[in-house]
Amino acid sequence: MDEATLWRRHLHAHPEAGFAEHATAAFVAERLEGFGLEVARGVGGTGVVGTLRGQARGEGRAIALRADMDALCQTEAAPDRPWRSTVPGRMHACGHDGHTAALLAAARRLAARPDFSGTVHFLFQPAEEHGQGMQAMLDDGLLERFPFSEAYGFHNMPGLERGTCVAPEGPVMAAEDNFEVTITGRGGHAARPHMVIDPIVAAAAVVLELQQIVARRLDPSEPAVVSVTEVTTNGLRNVIPDWARLSGDCRSFRPEVSAAIEAEMRRIALSVAAAHGAAAEVVYTRSFVPTVNAAAPTAAARRAARAALGTVTESCPRMMTSEDFARLLERVPGCFVFFGNGTESPPLHNAAFDFDDRLLEPIAAWAEALVRDRLGLDGGV
Ligand SMILES: [Zn+2]
Ligand SMILES: [Zn+2]
Repeated sequence: MDEATLWRRHLHAHPEAGFAEHATAAFVAERLEGFGLEVARGVGGTGVVGTLRGQARGEGRAIALRADMDALCQTEAAPDRPWRSTVPGRMHACGHDGHTAALLAAARRLAARPDFSGTVHFLFQPAEEHGQGMQAMLDDGLLERFPFSEAYGFHNMPGLERGTCVAPEGPVMAAEDNFEVTITGRGGHAARPHMVIDPIVAAAAVVLELQQIVARRLDPSEPAVVSVTEVTTNGLRNVIPDWARLSGDCRSFRPEVSAAIEAEMRRIALSVAAAHGAAAEVVYTRSFVPTVNAAAPTAAARRAARAALGTVTESCPRMMTSEDFARLLERVPGCFVFFGNGTESPPLHNAAFDFDDRLLEPIAAWAEALVRDRLGLDGGV
């Protein structure tokens, strides 16, 4: 079995949540050192940066390739999988084990033949799932300590034919906002509703009215999602609660749309609650920015895919999911691509999901071709 597959299965069996990737980071750092790279540990918490300097003449430029390392706080449902998670409540359900192993394989390939001109920084970032790991690396001086002028990332994608590479230009993944709407009424006996102000009925009305934001307030040509995902109260079976809290998640591609969603949500929550005699408070936060692929890096990512895989798909429908790599693309131009994990693959974040090991070498080959394209002896195209 190829070593990269062994790495991937080891990581899969030992998942760690965001900012707790201690063993994963040590595993990555040891391998990078074994390939002869300069290694910085503890960048932005548990992040690792491996630096490989090309040995061809000339200064060359610097580029970065990035993988994410964190797992999800869910339990794997694959009892017959020999490399299943050994940690209850932790699972590599997004394939970051595969991303890490593939980037290690790319580092190994390039370290074995560093006949390029320039520098490659391999970024292994913590805590992608909650959108904090890349910002933590940036806050820790990523761009000052390891300067680079372009950045590339990738993600596996269930539902796409295995090994297919999709490299779209422009906005590819959405911004994510989160909200909490707290409706405060007055609790009391379930059998004496005329004595209370029922926050559940008010909250239910707010949930329904929030559906009007996308349906009736936003331009239909603007992709957006408003999802209420959680309802909590301090009630009991026979006690009407004092308060009800709605939590949820919004997606959009432009700051103006995000601002409009927030404004509409505040207006609806406050006025619907008031109609019920209740009060509402809205806390609205922004956790992910949109992922936007720049033109020249996208062209390079496509050339690399053609060189390594023979083909590339240049466009796909915009995805409403979000990606922490976008924080880096706000600062440095780059490209985020997708590799099909197979049409039979369970979805991402599903308890039966598994990264397909047959993607490891194609992704590593793409990354190697990309570095040779950008840091070729002629300085790249
Ligand atoms: Zn994920
Ligand atoms: Zn992911």
